[in-house]
Amino acid sequence: MKLLRYGEAGQEKPGLLDNQGQVRDLSAIIKDVSGADLSSQSIARLQALNPDDLPLVSGSAQEDLRLGACVGAIGKFICIGLNYADHAAESGLEVPPEPVIFNKWTSAVIGPDDNVQIPRGSSKTDWEVELGVVIGEGGSYIDEANALDHVAGFCVVNDVSEREFQTERSGTWDKGKGCDTFGPIGPWLVTKDEVGDFDNLAMWCEVDGKRYQNGSTSTMVYKVPHLVSYCSRFMSLQPGDVISTGTPPGVGMGHKPPVYLKGGEKMHLGIERLGTQTQKVLGPLV
Ligand code: ZN
Repeated sequence: MKLLRYGEAGQEKPGLLDNQGQVRDLSAIIKDVSGADLSSQSIARLQALNPDDLPLVSGSAQEDLRLGACVGAIGKFICIGLNYADHAAESGLEVPPEPVIFNKWTSAVIGPDDNVQIPRGSSKTDWEVELGVVIGEGGSYIDEANALDHVAGFCVVNDVSEREFQTERSGTWDKGKGCDTFGPIGPWLVTKDEVGDFDNLAMWCEVDGKRYQNGSTSTMVYKVPHLVSYCSRFMSLQPGDVISTGTPPGVGMGHKPPVYLKGGEKMHLGIERLGTQTQKVLGPLV
């Protein structure tokens, strides 16, 4: 099942994508694609519905019908750094002995096809296609063996990053990760039963038609069950938290010489079975 949120920014309604690619409204069934409505019980209830019985929403998703981030009211937007050995190498860094955890501020979250704004003073805004894990059941000290019981599904995340803010401005990476619009999420939350083997999904990112990233979740160092379990040792996870699991090689910073985003360019990225995103780049903000 593909869950989504459609409509104007800030006024999105819950929906699902039916087998014909049409959006069906879920407003009468759930308040939002968020929080407790992501529990396994709630997902099972939604899966038991016949999409044909739900109101048809006019317009085509990602064409004349805007989609918001596929999860609403995200409590924590957690990121894992350097989780692909080949990306660590292009960054000139070793794969760390334990996962690197950092934050994106939830104010960075936008829809999958919304504009990305290069922030004021930026010269090094970059892209990162990533597998996003959506928490459906909360918990702390989660066993790796049970970790998937806590996962509602998966989605595409673009971990947009400002490299100078991230690495040259003192302190943690967070300054360069959470700028407004730096967190496109979606187009849909694909439930884990429909995704199947999340360890072998092709993933890619293009800028103005040039393919920069061309990877697979198969080369992730720390796998999804480990990451869920690991994060839950340092914080309680809650329904609607999103963990973005790191990026494969091919980011702008890794090119020689480096390549960074410019206003007017277009990012286009996707993950097998999880859909695609397209963002126009604006800026830099003056
Ligand atoms: Zn990242």
